[in-house]
Amino acid sequence: MSRLIAFAAIQGGYKVVSQAEGEYRKALDTYDASTKVGFPNTAYFLPVIYSLFGIKVETLEDMKEPLEIARGLLPPHIKGKNWLPFLGPLLDAGMAGIISFEIIEALRYLNEPDFYLHAEDPDIDAGKIWLGAADDTIFRKRGVEFVDGSAPGFAAIVGAAPSPEIAKMIVEDYQRKGLYMFLAASHNGTSVTEQLIEAGVQVGWNTRIATFGPYISSAVFALGFANRVAMAFGGVQPGDYKKILMYNKERVFAFVNALGDVGTEWGVAAAGCVNWGFPTIADTDITQILPTGICTYEHVVSPVSHDEICQRSVEVRGLKVTVSEIDIPLSFGPAFEGERVRGADLHCQTGGGKAQCTELVKMAEMNEIEDGKIELIGPDITDVKEGEAFPLGIYVQIAGREFQTDFEPIIERQIHHLTNYIQYVMHIGQRDIAWIRISKAAMEKGFSLKHIGVVLHAKFHQDFGNILDKVQITLYTKKKDVDALTKRARGEYAARDGRVENMKDEDVETYYSCTLCQSFAPNHVCSVSPERTGLCGAYNWMDCKAAFEINPTGPNQPIEKGECIDPVLGQWKGVNDFVFKASRGNVTHYNFYSMLIDPMTTCGCCECIAAMLPSCNGVMTVGRDYAGETPCGMKFTTLAGVMGGGAASPGFVGHSKYNICQGKFILGDGGLLRMVWMPKMLKEELKERIEKRGAEMGVPDLYDKIADETVGITEEEIMPFLEKVGHPALKMDPLV
Ligand code: SF4
Ligand code: ZN
Repeated sequence: MSRLIAFAAIQGGYKVVSQAEGEYRKALDTYDASTKVGFPNTAYFLPVIYSLFGIKVETLEDMKEPLEIARGLLPPHIKGKNWLPFLGPLLDAGMAGIISFEIIEALRYLNEPDFYLHAEDPDIDAGKIWLGAADDTIFRKRGVEFVDGSAPGFAAIVGAAPSPEIAKMIVEDYQRKGLYMFLAASHNGTSVTEQLIEAGVQVGWNTRIATFGPYISSAVFALGFANRVAMAFGGVQPGDYKKILMYNKERVFAFVNALGDVGTEWGVAAAGCVNWGFPTIADTDITQILPTGICTYEHVVSPVSHDEICQRSVEVRGLKVTVSEIDIPLSFGPAFEGERVRGADLHCQTGGGKAQCTELVKMAEMNEIEDGKIELIGPDITDVKEGEAFPLGIYVQIAGREFQTDFEPIIERQIHHLTNYIQYVMHIGQRDIAWIRISKAAMEKGFSLKHIGVVLHAKFHQDFGNILDKVQITLYTKKKDVDALTKRARGEYAARDGRVENMKDEDVETYYSCTLCQSFAPNHVCSVSPERTGLCGAYNWMDCKAAFEINPTGPNQPIEKGECIDPVLGQWKGVNDFVFKASRGNVTHYNFYSMLIDPMTTCGCCECIAAMLPSCNGVMTVGRDYAGETPCGMKFTTLAGVMGGGAASPGFVGHSKYNICQGKFILGDGGLLRMVWMPKMLKEELKERIEKRGAEMGVPDLYDKIADETVGITEEEIMPFLEKVGHPALKMDPLV
């Protein structure tokens, strides 16, 4: 801590210990030493003292020992420059202060038994607004919420905001995040509690606003509460002070907000809280203490403005907030994932070949974005006429202390199922070929494109709270913005794909599974190897590896290849065993490198579908974004309808665009040299990579030898072209 705080805290320690000793002596003059003391209806005595030292304070006499401990903890007086630049003495002074605060509060219960309320809800009318120590009934009911995850933590707020409105704003911010607030102390003759009451906010345990008391010493009730959680739910033994404090640091996500001047007594309280790993975030300018040590991150951060204090506190404490309520007018949840929006129900759509729809997740710096900011740039859905298509760009920015650019594709892939969770809305595809269909019923319920942002923000926090802290979403609906985003996104996709460019399947012993699509295709298991990216194009081997690191029990599991059964077709025993289990016995085996013999299963997400063209002795492939006829006699949509349920269909296979030019692409069937037809658009998109891969395979002008729809859309139409250019497939072994 800084010298300033160090002075304040150590001075405060002396002051508070002396005050407690003075009040104790007065009490001994007034009452018999055997007089009962303690907080009402609790089996935890004075919980801080009991939990840390195992001392059961039941009588005035019993207070002597903890007071001696407090006195003994006070560091030598610091004079002039002789202050110690270590945390130790400060923490001790802080602890001495906390012990004294608990004694002071226990003496208050003795001297003014009616000062604090004894019921769960504050009786505001009677002028009694202070809850005091939580009794065991309240503690059990509320404390368990800190353990079962229904409350992410608590904010101990001391002092008063500059106005009731600001107090209300701060508190409502915390309420939205599901935190409890423990209020104590006053500033300038008022307190947050009194300000909230003035602003018409309902206070009490029911609204998660515990109005502990008007004194700084009342803040000790928060620590007593936290330590009881460690004993009752964490199984920590009273007296095991190290474990008690560790438990709090690791499990009870709490912090202090100091609103008002941090004087000596607040200083010692703040120093005391550092022992628990609870940092202080202040609105006044006290010197910041940024290096990390005992608290998870910083110890004291100031000055923080009132509209930022909630977000900043949550960040500093490393608190993971889950947003449980998703505030949209439509029902939401996995139950709606499989729901379709059929033609007759359709109001409007984006993507699907009708208009561009692009999704991009990018990492941002912490200070670059604002958590929960959802912006729609351009007209909303209400401006789109029935039957129309509109362009859409979904741009998500993520910041987090633990976040890495490697995680972007994983988060991005979630947009698919999360958007599908919205009732009456359907999402297909990913990346720059996403397709969203919105039904008339959604419009009747008041659906706005912003709701996609609301959902993504909430769910990303909920599901990926361990790696991200902030989520900001921008939705673009003007064509020029969407086009710009698409252009940028394509560069990003290429860079991501490129991360496995030089890797070979032989280089690794471990592949990864992906079962993300089982909600639609229950038997489908993608196996992702360096040279076979997921068929949706969104997950390559690196992405799956990162996804497994983020969520070790999630849909991407490592698969030990095990014994190689067929090196040409690409089949491994370890993969077969895994797929058998993961498909619940429905798929016994498959080949990575063949579309003819036991190909991998295909779900509806595939970017492309390859099909055999027997008369040409070759294969074709078609991407989702090509709506026309193809030489295999089926359009993409028809092919997808036939294959998409998670089946393996020899002669066909779903694959990603990127996979086409990867080294192992249908290598068991002859590889890329078999490719006789592609839609022009796809061919051009992959031009460079086709040329490169063709050259590697001994046909540098392969690109020019592949037919497209300008040549023909039937086998008969393209055959003369293939003969004219001397397509290599014609000289290969017969395909069937
Ligand atoms: Fe995963 Fe495959 Fe679905 Fe892509 S298509 S999300 S890799 S299961
Ligand atoms: Zn899928």
